[in-house]
Amino acid sequence: MADIIKLLPDHVANQIAAGEVVQRPASVVKELLENAIDAESTVIKLVVKDGGKTLIQVVDNGVGMSETDARLSFERHATSKIASAQDLFNLHTKGFRGEALASIAAIAHVDLQTRTESQELGTHIKIEGSKIVTQEVTASSKGTSLSVKNLFFNIPARRNFLKSNQVELRHITDEFHRVALAHPNIEFHFYNNGSEIFNLPKTKYRQRIAHIFGSRMENRLVPVNEETEVVKISGFICKPEFAKKSRGEQFFFANHRFIKSPYLHHAVIAAFEGLIKSDLYPGYFLYLEVDPSSIDINIHPTKTEVKFDDENTLYAILRSTIKHGLGQFNVAPALDFEHDPNLDTPYAYKERGAVLPKVSVDPSFNPFQEGAKGGGSNGNHSGFQKTSNKSWEELYEGLDTEIGVETFSSVSIESDGGGQESIILDDQASTHGVTTFQLKRKFVVSAVKSGMLVIHQARAHQRILFEKFLGEITVKEGVSQQLLFPLELTFSKQELGILKEIKQSLTSIGFAFENLEEETVKVTGVPLMVPESGIGTVLDHLIADYKEGFENDSSSQAEILAKALSKNLAVRTGDLLDKESQLALVNNLFACKEPNLSPFQKLTYTIISEGDINKKFI
Ligand code: ADP
Ligand code: MG
Repeated sequence: MADIIKLLPDHVANQIAAGEVVQRPASVVKELLENAIDAESTVIKLVVKDGGKTLIQVVDNGVGMSETDARLSFERHATSKIASAQDLFNLHTKGFRGEALASIAAIAHVDLQTRTESQELGTHIKIEGSKIVTQEVTASSKGTSLSVKNLFFNIPARRNFLKSNQVELRHITDEFHRVALAHPNIEFHFYNNGSEIFNLPKTKYRQRIAHIFGSRMENRLVPVNEETEVVKISGFICKPEFAKKSRGEQFFFANHRFIKSPYLHHAVIAAFEGLIKSDLYPGYFLYLEVDPSSIDINIHPTKTEVKFDDENTLYAILRSTIKHGLGQFNVAPALDFEHDPNLDTPYAYKERGAVLPKVSVDPSFNPFQEGAKGGGSNGNHSGFQKTSNKSWEELYEGLDTEIGVETFSSVSIESDGGGQESIILDDQASTHGVTTFQLKRKFVVSAVKSGMLVIHQARAHQRILFEKFLGEITVKEGVSQQLLFPLELTFSKQELGILKEIKQSLTSIGFAFENLEEETVKVTGVPLMVPESGIGTVLDHLIADYKEGFENDSSSQAEILAKALSKNLAVRTGDLLDKESQLALVNNLFACKEPNLSPFQKLTYTIISEGDINKKFI
């Protein structure tokens, strides 16, 4: 048989390598910023257009490259950072693979201008798809400017795979944050589509964090410090009361390099145990310094996953350092350990008193009449204020709580099998009113003709709210409650970006904002369901959930937002529901278009048939 193995041409090999190194514009940003840092720059400028799809440019004032080096830098395995395998165990630079520029040049139009201190004139090279188009001498300032245009121009499949400009910009911003947080001693500027979105002067860690995440961060930070033979730990943790629903503000750096380490993350969580609810994430900015020979950053091409020699010791030290930090700043003793977080009412209902169970039935009620539908919005609201013990009613805003038996008995719903099945209340219930009860603060149970109806309260309420908000966002009919004193809230730049993106939808459901251009936003109105005391938390959670949803979900903005709202405002497992709320839940659920599933595609209710119950007694 003839020989069939061939060496791949360089440009093909580079394209394949690019697949590993460059997943999206943010990967290019990371590589270019790291090169600029390795070049000892003190000022670095990042310029991005259209989420990096059209242009990514990094300009630095570092050491620059000679003419030969400039050309060589685009060759694969060309690096000035290591010379032998031994050097791998004593890395002080970000780069060392010599792959990034070769990979980037294989899949984009690259323009490099660079000059070293000792040269009078600089070098200008243009490369397209690994081919040098021009190389000339040029007058340029000391340092390097590298532009990457039309990323993936020759790999349409990859280009099509990119998300919207907003999402790509968010990934870029995440990378930018990581690099800027690791190097507060470097000045950074970040321009997006012509306007400067970050201007970070040279400073210390604490201020750098505040410059990036907003000044409100300053008084949330608790410093931690520890120096042992194995590791030096410094940085900050956020006070437990500012724990968030998203992992957004969790940063580990090892030797000034952002790293991901689920194991060390666990150590931090363990230190916070008992101080925050299990579904919240503490914020942290932790800088570890270890001997470069005790850490292996070679295991992943994008180099965020690292391996430490003595992880167990590191875990123990980290955990106790953070516990110590929390204790020292009196964060821990101020907390109530007796308190069972499972019994917490959702923030939307915190301020309200307990409600005595009370059932009132209006047999003439018909859910299909205009204005009576669960998920409708404003029609009935004025009635809510009349009596003081109707606090749960706002939960089911738009529903007339004077619920009739007929409503329930005449609702027909889709059965699991897809066919129509009528849920008919059993005869006794029809004459004496609907009977519901709550089981384990998790389910609402009721007798129906065919057996026993068991509703998952949290999921069912999510479904109800999801349809309500989706309707309001589309029809723009949400009711707003004007705040007597506008509330001032501060957000980070990235959060502000998201707020602006979803502003229209938020306005549709009743939010009103002023000053969205500034770090401090004025909230002048909120939907009726949101209590004043919880506005900040609700918005924080909304932004986080929306961001996450947008990246992993191909639904429309309205749907993602309605999902986030329903998730944050729905009752939870563990919430005690009074009779009225239980009834309202049942009725509103079956007034929904898709009562079977929560917006997150989880089953909302089931019916245990009489036959099944009978079997238990055989
Ligand atoms: P690596 O960073 O792994 O060495 P790269 O492909 O990113 O590989 O870069 C190749 C080489 O080009 C670097 O080793 C460095 O010598 C040079 N280089 C890249 N960017 C810059 C820059 N901004 N300033 C000076 N030299 C640079
Ligand atoms: Mg590099």
